[in-house]
Amino acid sequence: MKFSSNIKDLQPSATIAVSTLAKQLKAEGRDILNLSAGEPDFRTPEFISAGGIRGIRDGRTRYTPPAGLPELRQAITARLSAQAGRELDWNGLVVTAGAKQALFNAIFSLFGPGDEVVVAAPYWTTYPDLVTLARAEPKVVFGREENDFKVTSTELERVAFENVKGLILNSPSNPTGAVYSLSELTEIAAWARERGAWLISDEIYRRIHHDGPGDAPGLLDLPEGSLPDFVLVDGASKCFAMTGWRIGYSFSANDLAKKMISLQSQMTSNISTPTQMAALRAYGDPAAADASITEMGVAFERRRDLVVGLFEELLPEVRFVYPKGAFYLYFRSNALGVESSTEWCRQLLSGEGVALVPGAAFGDDRWSRMSFAAADSVIEEAIRRMARMVGRA
Ligand code: PLP
Repeated sequence: MKFSSNIKDLQPSATIAVSTLAKQLKAEGRDILNLSAGEPDFRTPEFISAGGIRGIRDGRTRYTPPAGLPELRQAITARLSAQAGRELDWNGLVVTAGAKQALFNAIFSLFGPGDEVVVAAPYWTTYPDLVTLARAEPKVVFGREENDFKVTSTELERVAFENVKGLILNSPSNPTGAVYSLSELTEIAAWARERGAWLISDEIYRRIHHDGPGDAPGLLDLPEGSLPDFVLVDGASKCFAMTGWRIGYSFSANDLAKKMISLQSQMTSNISTPTQMAALRAYGDPAAADASITEMGVAFERRRDLVVGLFEELLPEVRFVYPKGAFYLYFRSNALGVESSTEWCRQLLSGEGVALVPGAAFGDDRWSRMSFAAADSVIEEAIRRMARMVGRA
């Protein structure tokens, strides 16, 4: 079949492909431990779900404005204003079907043919594909392993791209769990300002920050005067365990927000109205929201310690990035005897029934990613099976 050049090279998301295969094998009766998915294993907090159910019962089931209910945009902006310590304009806030749609809106609205967009690597698998969909060119720049793969202005300066129009950054990072400090973010922001490049900051894991204190640093923690042109992307999927509800948002200058709202109005219109009613609780009740985030955070941190401890005990030769945020362990799987992580993960899934994501999905096929958003017993059993496969247990 002949497809248009818009999509002819498009592939399904690599991470979703692995978890779909794992689910299929499980449905066929195999004993599968699925540590490939990027989603919390918790239920959505009850007070949030209740908002959605109530919304349906109250007949809040019709269209809303494409950018979302004004009261929801205001509630989210109030949370961002509290973080920034200044009043932000809610007209810059666009409610989207997950952070993914916010990223699509931003990339599609800002970049096009001839533009180069730097993607800090290892990257979340979708970024380069979205840049390519916009017919711009992704330029992958790796940070140094000694710096937990975080890029600095040194790596960015070394790349002599002519037409750099943007940089996509993700902190805390999927897949590494690395967290940029405030001074590192300041340096990156200064680089983007000097280059006149847009900074797209994906902060979807900002509230899943181990060892604290508080949330991971984000763009709005920087003084207003030091910010480049930016799009902040965030959402409820990870911090409120709401992956299936499909709710995210972008915050940017009003002019850009207007364009992204037009784009969304031509594509999907508003996101599901009951989801917005649920999100109104999540963002409108900060005390309840913070309590549930703290509760999930305690579990994530305990599992982080469990994974790190088991790796050190059972697979001591394997280097990994110590996760300071999110819920992933990024480790050097090629130390285990198979050079390609794609091949190693295939053997692990077919032989031991453990599903991980090969690092090829994030730009480096020597590494692999294990999600620790799973029960302690599943994590422990998975690492023991990995050790068994390489003859260590
Ligand atoms: N950004 C990053 C870094 C992610 O890991 C994910 C999901 O895995 C997303 C964005 C998309 O999140 P959502 O489910 O809100 O679209």
